[in-house]
Amino acid sequence: MTLSLYDTMSRAKRPFAPRDPRRVTMYVCGPTVYNYAHIGNFRPVVVFDLLFRVLRDVYGEDAVVYAANVTDVDDKINKKAADEGVPIATISNRYLDAYNADAQALGALPPSMQPRVTETMDAIVKMIGDLVHQNAAYAAEGHVLFDTQAFGDYGKLSGRSMDDMIAGARVDVAPYKRHPADFVLWKPSKAGEPEWESPFGPGRPGWHIECSAMIEEALGLPIDIHGGGIDLVFPHHENELAQGVCAGHGREYAHVWMHNGFLNMGDEKMSKSLGNVALAHDLRGQYPGEAIRWALLSGHYRQPLEWTGDLIEQAKSALDRLYRVLDDAGRFLAGQPAAGGYDNPAAEADYAAVEAALHDDLNTPTAFAALFQLADKVRAAVMARDARAVASGRDLLLEAGALMGLLTADPQAWFQGGADDDLKARVEGLLADRQAARAAKNWPEADRIRDELTALNVEVMDGPSGATWRIKEQA
Ligand SMILES: [Zn+2]
Repeated sequence: MTLSLYDTMSRAKRPFAPRDPRRVTMYVCGPTVYNYAHIGNFRPVVVFDLLFRVLRDVYGEDAVVYAANVTDVDDKINKKAADEGVPIATISNRYLDAYNADAQALGALPPSMQPRVTETMDAIVKMIGDLVHQNAAYAAEGHVLFDTQAFGDYGKLSGRSMDDMIAGARVDVAPYKRHPADFVLWKPSKAGEPEWESPFGPGRPGWHIECSAMIEEALGLPIDIHGGGIDLVFPHHENELAQGVCAGHGREYAHVWMHNGFLNMGDEKMSKSLGNVALAHDLRGQYPGEAIRWALLSGHYRQPLEWTGDLIEQAKSALDRLYRVLDDAGRFLAGQPAAGGYDNPAAEADYAAVEAALHDDLNTPTAFAALFQLADKVRAAVMARDARAVASGRDLLLEAGALMGLLTADPQAWFQGGADDDLKARVEGLLADRQAARAAKNWPEADRIRDELTALNVEVMDGPSGATWRIKEQA
């Protein structure tokens, strides 16, 4: 099965061919860690985590190296550190931890590496030196600037003319620039701000050079896949490309450039249904992480996505449907002898359809449709009381879910997750009372307790190993 990915540079979907299938490299531009991250920042996290999983599935878990960087030197970090009277590392560590906790809650695997600017300073200074040496950069008034006239392909990635780029970059007209589009590689720090030594004078790096140097140091250039949000195409990635090529790395910097569309906060809908909750950190207090992940993957990654409360509710219901099938399958199989080694061609075709959709430039809407088809096969097998078909179908459903970073919860825990601790305690108490009433053959009392549970919207299921419960399906 061919994996095809859309490449921003060639503006085409192409079969993906890594330079070395034993070491597939991917780099995705990560956050500037100065605050809790907006939900929009997690669209690339989830999209490229999905791609990471697909690549690991195709090439092997150890064959994919995924670097997601962290910008831990920045004006906003400096300001917050100054406001709190703490070193910048206190701020960046605090919000990097929060970011990683959010990403984990959304089902993202840890990247293979998470390079940080403060730990890459030597490589950054070296790359700037290489650019000066190649006559692609020049020093002026304590700054070092990239000379955009030195790179004939400047604008090729974003498809912009020089005039567009100057307008689009909202460039500061600075007297030390030879050309208005030239951009900063190194700049002096302001009084009281952190600074690093360099042959160009003390200071700190510009944003774009950070990524080029981190890629070179973490993965080596060129890389197979470079990803990020669509807003990074220009100027950030255009500038990264110019630096990478001019620093002496040949014509290619990244083999495939991938960009996810915006997450649009539909203002009115958003404020009504979500109370303006826009931080992943807050959202995951309201919804399971998998529901947020599903919502972020519900549209094709290259399209803009309208972010609304309805979208997450729909994602939650979709997951409820699938977990209900898994729960029913688990209950049915608990009373059956173990079944294995059985082919389920219908369910296998659905699994293959999930995989094929993901291999077609991460077509998640089609993958979700195939996931439901697969769940329907499992449900039908439960109805038919066909233990072997249930067992194999359930395994395939879990496998397809895992490929997408979903269906990782215990089905019973999933449904009881919607109940708060008070409700859980009350239900467990009622179930114990009902058990006692039944043991005493007090049937009216047992029925009365059952009615009480029903009124709590709790469904009780009596099984071989006692009664279990779940929150009822919404009509
Ligand atoms: Zn970057």
